[in-house]
Amino acid sequence: MVSSEYEHRIAARFAGFDQDGNGYIDREDFNAAAKAVLSAFDTAARSDKGQALYIGAEAFWQGMAGIADRDGDQRITREEFVSGAVKRLRDNPERFAEIARPFLHAALAVADTDGDRTATLDETRRVLVALGADEDTAAAAATALDADTDGRIGETEVVAAFARYFTVPE
Ligand code: CA
Ligand code: CA
Repeated sequence: MVSSEYEHRIAARFAGFDQDGNGYIDREDFNAAAKAVLSAFDTAARSDKGQALYIGAEAFWQGMAGIADRDGDQRITREEFVSGAVKRLRDNPERFAEIARPFLHAALAVADTDGDRTATLDETRRVLVALGADEDTAAAAATALDADTDGRIGETEVVAAFARYFTVPE
């Protein structure tokens, strides 16, 4: 029996990936996510950090497509997402962390304006808002990410939390 709360969480994860809201996940959504993060931090696409973010977004898309795009049409439908991505990623959260890490690493580098390899709560909140979260959700998520409450969020925390969020425990 699948709970409606579970269905709701799946729908929210799908919407998170479907950045342009056209009903399927494709490469454009990952490019849009990269563009939104760069724009939020006034970072040029042609800068080193910008290029790294686009490369990470492409790797993330390729990884997701490899897991979920069963008919190979370069689109992940909601059905493919539920039956492919969610199930397989839940079975193997390390795999998800692996495909998402280059993008998250690059996004953290964009947000990390003082170069200490961590992001502040506010920088993290701005990344999440750029990716489409509402202000309250983003602020709560940033606080929750800071597990050791030092006010800074590092790559390990980001990757682990992101994997936990998108692998949707039942
Ligand atoms: Ca889309
Ligand atoms: Ca497909």
